[in-house]
Amino acid sequence: MSVKILSSDVIAKIAAGEVVDRPSSVVKELLENAIDAGASSVEILLADAGKESILIKDNGSGIARSDLETIFQRHATSKIRSMEDLDNLSSMGFRGEALYSIGAVSAVTLKTNGWQLNVRGGERLGLQPSAVPERGTHIEIAQLFFNTPARRKFLKNTTSEMTAILNAVLPYGLIYPQLRLALTHNSRSVLDFRPTPNRLDRIAHAFNCAAKDLIETEQELAAEGVKIRLTLGCINVQRARRDLQFIFINNRPVDSKTISFNLNDMYKLILPPGVYGAFVVELHLNPTNVDVNIHPTKREVRLHGEARIISALRRLAESALMQQGAIKTVFPAYTIGEPVQHHFNAGGIVRHSFNDGGQIAEPALSYSPGSSLFDMDQHLFKADNSLKTRFAQARYIGQWINKFLLFEEGKSLFVVDQHAAQERIMFEKFRNQIENGKIEIQPLLTPTLVKLTASEHIVYDDIKDKLDSLGIETTQFDSDTIAIQTQPVLLKDVGKALRTLLAGDDVARCDRHTLASRACKASIVSGDPLNPAQVEHQRRELLACQDPFTCPHGRPTVIELTEGFIDRQFLRS
Ligand code: ADP
Ligand code: MG
Repeated sequence: MSVKILSSDVIAKIAAGEVVDRPSSVVKELLENAIDAGASSVEILLADAGKESILIKDNGSGIARSDLETIFQRHATSKIRSMEDLDNLSSMGFRGEALYSIGAVSAVTLKTNGWQLNVRGGERLGLQPSAVPERGTHIEIAQLFFNTPARRKFLKNTTSEMTAILNAVLPYGLIYPQLRLALTHNSRSVLDFRPTPNRLDRIAHAFNCAAKDLIETEQELAAEGVKIRLTLGCINVQRARRDLQFIFINNRPVDSKTISFNLNDMYKLILPPGVYGAFVVELHLNPTNVDVNIHPTKREVRLHGEARIISALRRLAESALMQQGAIKTVFPAYTIGEPVQHHFNAGGIVRHSFNDGGQIAEPALSYSPGSSLFDMDQHLFKADNSLKTRFAQARYIGQWINKFLLFEEGKSLFVVDQHAAQERIMFEKFRNQIENGKIEIQPLLTPTLVKLTASEHIVYDDIKDKLDSLGIETTQFDSDTIAIQTQPVLLKDVGKALRTLLAGDDVARCDRHTLASRACKASIVSGDPLNPAQVEHQRRELLACQDPFTCPHGRPTVIELTEGFIDRQFLRS
């Protein structure tokens, strides 16, 4: 083939592919434009997750009639004039590529300042007077990717596209509490942030937690010219995914693996493995020290002096979490007494407040890491028949602190973690019920209310029928709360199970069986204080399990302490 310069039509489509790859990137670009235009209210209205149409209404500055001639051209921007401006960037946009790209691959209707402009596939169709809007700009994108069929074909299902849109919009809601921000999908409200002067209220609203569960801390690194503000969820805000973690640099939402890794590392101080904290990191630094001009979508940034910023972040997070955030809300693990009130926090743990003061319980999925004993000579059980036989023959000595069962066999002491053993037993029972298609169901006298985040709601709409078939029947309670009406008998905490399901990846595509086993991993009925007959019963049930010597989370149910080990504790050997 001979060398030819590509036609402007092809160039436009290639360039568009860099900036807009799915509805969420269109929404993000248009939302940024509205914010740059000084809007105090932005409404986003979507049909079919933006695949049919995206309408964004703002009350910002509007666009002058004369600018309507150029804004759909490549590199048309009102935001910078020169390279120097790039060093003092205060706007979100600056490349002048969004409208050009969007116009190249969709049908756009833009209304502003009494005019309506139509562009389709990069072609300007006409400019005519228009009555609306009174103030600001309305821009509607339809037929997205109509002329790039490959891209259109790769759009994902409604849930995935909506989740991506929500992830694109939410950060702006966090960082601009004064902005009214509403997101509506197929006429149903997905997000509705009312303006508030208090940023913690806005973050709490978005995180679905109480403002008092957020810790705010700030530090200025004078030498580096960096200001750090951290807003951290305390121990009561636990997530099954890293979905409530946001990083901003100079008010721009960014991705930073380093910052994310380090903060999650600090959360290990207070959170059990497998659960994640919620945080908002805001860095303000001299624009000359940050390079946003790396990729058209501007998510990736480069920082100067990153190492020092990271170590400051770690120190700040550590002291905040340890001093202010490490106190657990008191809630009993296994129902004792009558709950007087309950509510869900963002992490899906039901917190009961009890008249009798209750007791401190383990948070969801928590377990203490293997103690140092494991390094010595005590043996962990494997599903080994000789161990099964020895444990089956062991003589029951008694129960210790209502928590451990002690058995002796030969020169060994077996210690059974009653709760872990019970979990294993219940887990296998529930799994059998699922496999046989006979799940025992219990109606709830008082429905359990679960407040969902916007993204959880999107997934919920998708899997509601599957939940029904698992014995978790739900009804809509109010716009963002659902009521659980029935639960499988073997689930200890159906609310937690439900939330774990809603947080899973690809839940919509999971079959009933996978969903059920995920649900039961999260929530299993626990045991009670046991009399010797019950202990025997538990031992028999445990030994009948396929995998008796680990709990469903992988920690041991039984440990063996040998005579040699105990001798050494007495410095005998
Ligand atoms: P950029 O945001 O990088 O400047 P865009 O292609 O997104 O490039 O927008 C081009 C120009 O159109 C902007 O610089 C701005 O002047 C104008 N514009 C776009 N959207 C709006 C809006 N909602 N309100 C006011 N002006 C807008
Ligand atoms: Mg822009």
